[in-house]
Amino acid sequence: MNYISTRNNCEPVSAASAIAQGMVPAGGLFVPQSIPALSTEEIASMAGKSYQEIARWILGKYLTDYTAEDIADCVAGAYNTNFDTAEIAPLVKLNDNEYILELWHGPTAAFKDMALQLTPRLLVKAIEKLDLKQEVIILVATSGDTGKAALEGFKNVKGTRIIVFYPAHGVSRVQELQMVTTDGDNTYVVGVEGNFDDCQSAVKEIFADQALKETMAQNGYQFSSANSINWGRLLPQIVYYFAAYLNLVNQKAVSYGDKVDFVVPTGNFGNILAAWYAGQMGLPVGKLVCASNKNRILTDFFATGVYDRRRDFFQTNSPSMDILISSNLERFLFAMTGNNGDKVAQWMDALKQDGIFTVDAETKANIDKFVVGGAADESETLAMIKQCYTDHNYVLDTHTAVALKVSREQQSGNVAVIDSTAHPCKFVSSVLAALNGEASQASELEQLEELVQKTGIAQHSGLQDLDKKEVRHSMVCEKEGISAAVQQILGL
Ligand SMILES: *Cc1c(COP(=O)(O)O)cnc(C)c1O
Repeated sequence: MNYISTRNNCEPVSAASAIAQGMVPAGGLFVPQSIPALSTEEIASMAGKSYQEIARWILGKYLTDYTAEDIADCVAGAYNTNFDTAEIAPLVKLNDNEYILELWHGPTAAFKDMALQLTPRLLVKAIEKLDLKQEVIILVATSGDTGKAALEGFKNVKGTRIIVFYPAHGVSRVQELQMVTTDGDNTYVVGVEGNFDDCQSAVKEIFADQALKETMAQNGYQFSSANSINWGRLLPQIVYYFAAYLNLVNQKAVSYGDKVDFVVPTGNFGNILAAWYAGQMGLPVGKLVCASNKNRILTDFFATGVYDRRRDFFQTNSPSMDILISSNLERFLFAMTGNNGDKVAQWMDALKQDGIFTVDAETKANIDKFVVGGAADESETLAMIKQCYTDHNYVLDTHTAVALKVSREQQSGNVAVIDSTAHPCKFVSSVLAALNGEASQASELEQLEELVQKTGIAQHSGLQDLDKKEVRHSMVCEKEGISAAVQQILGL
């Protein structure tokens, strides 16, 4: 299977090449040329299989230039005791119609681990296959969680270096400590005086900078990406939608064929897009519910067909969703226009130039078949955390709370699986404030203790003793200085 550009500006490439490049050199994202269709019998036959078996099966459909052994190696390395449960992605029942899919049992307590434990392994195999002699430089823009998950995934991976940019005042103390205490001899972490979109836009511009690319090549380097613009990051996420559905079938919560809605707290539209791919492959997916926080750009887009980023940017208590440019929407739009790359390219240009684009009525009608949007503001988020704890004795993090709130407004009658994207300890101040009804004056690390004591939830091993670890990264730069920082790190 080959991969094509969402902007009709690149010849088809192999999976290895799409993963090694990260994004299309001239702008645009790689998508599979066709989506593998699975029969009902084939899907149903996977019920009861382990997460790893399901992963090998799904990956094999898309990575046709990888051997079965390559895939098995990657999967075995990614999903093992580095997760704190053998189930990898357990489902927790709230009631007959609502299940929480816990995606944060990996090493950094965020759902990003589900993909990022695997992506580096896929990339290393890609480098081998393509016989690339250059060192691969992974550039990451993070709103908090991707950074640490990517650092953990790539640290000490041969033939790679990873440089992470995060908004210096836009992440939680726990997130910042997780990143700046990362060890490994190929890791770099830089705080940026700007927001996540500044970081992401700068990284995209670096990828598109041809002059820099040449200098890099002369010095034995090439860039790639661990953000969800990389197909190698998106693909692993398709797996847990199959695993979750089959898990429901196994538990007899649904009969095979019943449609299940997936509710996804959304930022860059990667996670929810993976659910769409799962549905296109044949999984009985009902509605995809796209849940946003106060930065409700996607909610407005799904309501109107107008994507308008000319608005204030809010820093909220669900910071991993504080995004105004939702990169993976581009892949979805490509599909919704019947693979019209020229149209998508125009919209993306308009977004860049004018900050706004409007999709045509036909595209809008296609989108409406799959997705509904909704939003929860900060106080609704906190109220949901409190209510869920009172009613179900279950502690939600802020992102998952946004999703549950929106899910309850959008009930379709199908069983809803709500993606839980972070361990509650990761956003402890907000979670504790929700439960106590007031903000705590204690340090974040003291609050962690309090939350664990109060609710009896298990502390995540990746969040223990953060204050005792050595701070190994202290570089900061202006948002205009991101490219210069990269060049400085690489000695260019
Ligand atoms: C990254 C992240 C999201 C958003 O996921 P997307 O794939 O970017 O839509 C939601 N919640 C948490 C906790 C995250 O880390």
